[in-house]
Amino acid sequence: MATVRLTRREIRQDDLPPVCVRCGAEATVHRGHTFAWHPPWVSALLVVSMCLGLIPSLPLLLVAAAFTQRIRIVTPLCDRHRNYWLFRACYIWGGLAIFAFLVILLIVVGMVAELRHLLLPLGAGTVAGFLGWLISGALLQTYTLRVVELDDCGLKLQGVAQGFTQALREWRQRSEENPVERSESPADPARGGTISVEPLSSSAPLLVLPAGASPVPFDPERLVRPRRRVWPWVVGAITGCVAVGLVAVYILFAFGIRPAQARQHQMEGWTYLSRGDDVRALASFDEAIRLNRRCAEAYYGRGQVYLNRNQPDRAAAEFDDAIGCGLKNADVYINRGYAYQSSGMLDQAIVDYSEGIRLDPANVTALVNRGGIYVTQGMHRAGIADYSQALRLDPRNADAYLGRGRAHLGMGSLIESVTDCTAVLHLRPNDSFAFATRGTAYHRRKDPTRALADYGAALRLVPGFRDCVINRGLLHAETGEHDKAIVDFTRAVELQPEDPVAYNHRAASYSAQGEHDRALADCNEAIRRSPQFMGFTLSRAQVLKKKGDYKLALADFRTGMTSNPPSAEAFNGAAWMLCTCPADEARDGKQAVEYALKACALTNWGNANGVDTLAAAYAEVGDFVQAVSWQKKALQTPGLSPEGVEHAQQRLKLYEEGKPYRER
Ligand SMILES: [Zn+2]
Repeated sequence: MATVRLTRREIRQDDLPPVCVRCGAEATVHRGHTFAWHPPWVSALLVVSMCLGLIPSLPLLLVAAAFTQRIRIVTPLCDRHRNYWLFRACYIWGGLAIFAFLVILLIVVGMVAELRHLLLPLGAGTVAGFLGWLISGALLQTYTLRVVELDDCGLKLQGVAQGFTQALREWRQRSEENPVERSESPADPARGGTISVEPLSSSAPLLVLPAGASPVPFDPERLVRPRRRVWPWVVGAITGCVAVGLVAVYILFAFGIRPAQARQHQMEGWTYLSRGDDVRALASFDEAIRLNRRCAEAYYGRGQVYLNRNQPDRAAAEFDDAIGCGLKNADVYINRGYAYQSSGMLDQAIVDYSEGIRLDPANVTALVNRGGIYVTQGMHRAGIADYSQALRLDPRNADAYLGRGRAHLGMGSLIESVTDCTAVLHLRPNDSFAFATRGTAYHRRKDPTRALADYGAALRLVPGFRDCVINRGLLHAETGEHDKAIVDFTRAVELQPEDPVAYNHRAASYSAQGEHDRALADCNEAIRRSPQFMGFTLSRAQVLKKKGDYKLALADFRTGMTSNPPSAEAFNGAAWMLCTCPADEARDGKQAVEYALKACALTNWGNANGVDTLAAAYAEVGDFVQAVSWQKKALQTPGLSPEGVEHAQQRLKLYEEGKPYRER
């Protein structure tokens, strides 16, 4: 690249050879460009001002601006370099626009608390980009076309092609030889300048037009290609940057700021929830969901609020949404399981608890809750497994001990049940459920003293513990203390008059004491409250039999026989009454055999009492061979109590002696 000196006259008149300044090829266009120039000391001033910062350097910048001179030169350019100035403008203005946009972005990011973590990388990127742009710009500047000297006579242009300096030299020689020639050569349509129509200075030789001189003919190319086409590009670039900026700000709000605000509301909600302020918590979670429809934690929080408000259905729906939005941790599954459990959807609850346990195998709450459902559904072994696992994780979990104690009771593992309940009472000495459960275990182990003590302890803690009152009543009835049993059953009736069970139990105790009318009244009450349950009708049949109302008793038994499904107990009860009752006129051996066979058939010959009844029926009709044979079978069939075995053996003896059995 060379340097060339141009005179002011050459510049003003656009008196330059039609050769590209950049490469020396033939020029096809002329592009005007304003060059800026300042004395070298102004550059030093600018460097100082950059170090000082914007406000203190303002006077220096003004001085620099005052000493900066501008000059417009129409440069001839070839086809290849026709957009030389445009590219330069795009580089400078486009770079500045991007830099300005990044600065605005930095300010926005700095104002939003949730995005501040982006400030450092974004700021570093901006500074690095800006420095890169500055350095590459400075490098470009050394190769570019620029004015390096400017005075009254002319200027020195750096960065011109060697070919151009050559052409300029020849052009000047020709101009000196024949100053008119050039203006007569308008056959250069590519010269898009307006030079030839500009008024020329008085010193210009072209002012003296020789004869035959003509103006440059109109060239439409000049209108089609206006000289200054940089500004539309710059405006376009800035508009584009603004548009991109707006899109970026929208994206920032949609995916950055709104979710960030939602997160803040959601966290506020949890704070309120931890303080027990359900109303504000719900409002915060609602707001979070309004800002971000996929704010999973907010749905989870709403579920918690509904759970607190005892609305498990709504809670489950919110937990559904939380899971749908991607919150798939153990807690949300376990809480949804709890919501399902609270609304009685036990199968779904088990599924969710299982998922929760899969995600968090050490979650004791989920294990205890699932164990409880298993026990409720009669799956005692599965329940015991869950409780045992919970106890391995937390050996001091009283709920797990209590649940396992109840599961063992349900399975008939009475010793284990007692052990677990005792463990509960070590941890929680006032646990009425543990006393009641252990009492029942002792009760079934035929340990009435301990059972009574535990029932008593449970009832001292919770006087209205109805199940415990009934169990104690049953224990009293079993030990023959019907007075005390009747007191307990009466208390149970008072606690829950609509439940027929207590009437039925009290009827049995009244009947045992010979108070037949009261017993019958209670039986009727139980049947009135639960007509569908055949057991109460059969209880009344027993009371009526005891009272001596055999016909009415038989009628009740027959109700049981004709029920759907037919009651084996009814057939057995009727058969037993027909062959063993003390009143001669009420007995009917043949009918008894028929009913007893039916009862045995209904129980697949697996019920010892049924076989025992069949033997008694055969004895009644005088078939003692059959009677002895069936009585022996009855003794071999499991299911008889020790007391029952004793009675059965006494009857066998009677049959062997050829005597039928009679109740007293
Ligand atoms: Zn060129």
